[in-house]
Amino acid sequence: MPPRVALVDLDDTLIDYRAEEDHAVEALRGDVAGDLPAQVWRSLYRDAKQVQRSHQPLPGPATYRHRFEVFGDRLRDHHVVRHRIGAAELERRYWQARYAAVTPLDGAGELLGVLGRRYDDVVVCTVGLQARQQDRLRIAGLASLVTGLVSSEVAGVGKDDWPRFLGSRWDPGARYLAISDALRPDLFFAAEVGMTTAWIASSPAPRSEFAQIVHWQAPTPAALAVQWDGLEPEEIHT
Ligand SMILES: [Mg+2]
Repeated sequence: MPPRVALVDLDDTLIDYRAEEDHAVEALRGDVAGDLPAQVWRSLYRDAKQVQRSHQPLPGPATYRHRFEVFGDRLRDHHVVRHRIGAAELERRYWQARYAAVTPLDGAGELLGVLGRRYDDVVVCTVGLQARQQDRLRIAGLASLVTGLVSSEVAGVGKDDWPRFLGSRWDPGARYLAISDALRPDLFFAAEVGMTTAWIASSPAPRSEFAQIVHWQAPTPAALAVQWDGLEPEEIHT
């Protein structure tokens, strides 16, 4: 029997990234410039994040430092920081707040449990820094439910090239199931190399151009776990 491997995205598939990031940005405002309107603070942060991402589409060791250097510059341009706070300190406080706010999505553990009973490997596949993503998975209480984590930092590529992303875990003879909230690049390129796909999304059926690449859809990990609970792996892959 070919090996069966489940590939599961991390952010907004297993962990509520958006809520975590919003919480951290707001906590930083409280720390640094609580009197600045939240809207202004968020827009300066978003701007810094965009600048960083345009320079570094795949996160590397210097990613967050760069983001907070740009953010610090923006803050000083707006005279919002009375006491100069360095990028390293902003970055430290940001991660402290992120870690404090890590929250698994509804049914994330149940879904990994369902997969663990059916698949030889359950691998978290994520764009981000290996150590940070491992920390977040552990804090969320999910690390013991997977057999590994591959990040873009370690792979050196994104999920638009699954064979290279998976590296030694890529086996053309294996059966892969890819689960993500992102149609692009995750599921689009997964379908292209023959993987079965599951889309975590609460919107209605995907647009026709995506219909053929989405085999399963559910609004939450919990709902997906329920759909698959009584199924054999072969039924998931038909
Ligand atoms: Mg995601």
